[in-house]
Amino acid sequence: MLFKILVLWFVTSGLAIAYFARRELLISWREPVLHRPVLIIESDDWGAGPPDQSEALGTIAQLLAGFKDCDGRHPVMTLGIVLASADGERITATGSYQRQLISTGTHGSLLETIGNGVEAGVFDIQLHGLEHFWPSALMEASQCDETVRVWLQRAPLSLTEDLPSSLQSRWVNAVSLPAEPLNDKEVLQAVQEETAGFEAIFGDVPGVAVPPTFIWNECVEKAWAAGGVDVVVTPGRRYESRDYDGQPSDAGDLVYNGQLTDIGIVYVVRNSYFEPSIGHMAEQAMAALDFKTRLGQPALLETHRFNFLGSIDKKNRSVEELKRFLEQALVTYPNLAFISTGKLAKILKDRDPGWVEQRLGPRLHFWLRRLGEFPRVRKLAWLSGWILPAGLVWKLTGHS
Ligand SMILES: [Zn+2]
Repeated sequence: MLFKILVLWFVTSGLAIAYFARRELLISWREPVLHRPVLIIESDDWGAGPPDQSEALGTIAQLLAGFKDCDGRHPVMTLGIVLASADGERITATGSYQRQLISTGTHGSLLETIGNGVEAGVFDIQLHGLEHFWPSALMEASQCDETVRVWLQRAPLSLTEDLPSSLQSRWVNAVSLPAEPLNDKEVLQAVQEETAGFEAIFGDVPGVAVPPTFIWNECVEKAWAAGGVDVVVTPGRRYESRDYDGQPSDAGDLVYNGQLTDIGIVYVVRNSYFEPSIGHMAEQAMAALDFKTRLGQPALLETHRFNFLGSIDKKNRSVEELKRFLEQALVTYPNLAFISTGKLAKILKDRDPGWVEQRLGPRLHFWLRRLGEFPRVRKLAWLSGWILPAGLVWKLTGHS
């Protein structure tokens, strides 16, 4: 009798968990389990703006070239490139929006440093946007916001990082909040311009796109795919707008590393941060690498150019922290792999057996580990008693 009650309890509570936590159960299973730790430093915002970014990138390239993984590959810093900014002088003269695209004429040294870094295998370029804003929204905001007006006048030398945060989003109109969606036709045209601009500057279509401020929608994604993009870097969800408080909103389902969308885009997840200028130390970056490795996931660490620009002191501290982190990472994980985000996406998409676990036992083990990181799933498992059989399977599959 007791046995029957127990079986009935586990069956019904199991079905309830399967229903309420279906997304977590599914994505934790579908996300490939990597055999070895993978580290990528993902940095954004390079390109348009002050041309003196080349010195910082030169220092970073030199640092990265001094490290190698056990296969002889250097650490890769991906550079999310912004191709243009506003041209303040021409805007004042004409009264309408005018852009300045980066070129060998305006940013020759920067483009050379980037090209050399790519050739040396320490940089990989990704599309961040034609601009790091939606031009007509910025023009509209400048009518009533003095800081935006002054910013536009000083452009292209002004930094987009100094704009109000909501106006740094490119794929919504956030002049007033909550943000308004853009017209699909305008989006298609803007994406065509940016993919063509990327190709004109770098000689190839962009393979990886990083949505500015991580706000974008399906229309943007489809247009990117048509322009050659096959990988999109996400924060783990797609946010499509900004709410009354300017916070990212209209989030879709959780997404996972290696998720293939209907139109053939591969998602990767970047939700760990390494911003030394705001206090992130090598130890925190190590904790992020440990966490991701424990879950069989790649560690994509987000950073921005602002850490490496400005005062020499700030730049040196950021470079030093990056150096300490790489030193610690290689000592802790002798089998650590340095690859680019584009290569990672291909490995995940192909479920490459050289990198991705194929055996059922280890996959079950990592599935349970991943599920344990969702507080809701953990709570349901404890309350229902499912923690016992799950713990047993976790233990039994731990040494395969
Ligand atoms: Zn950015």
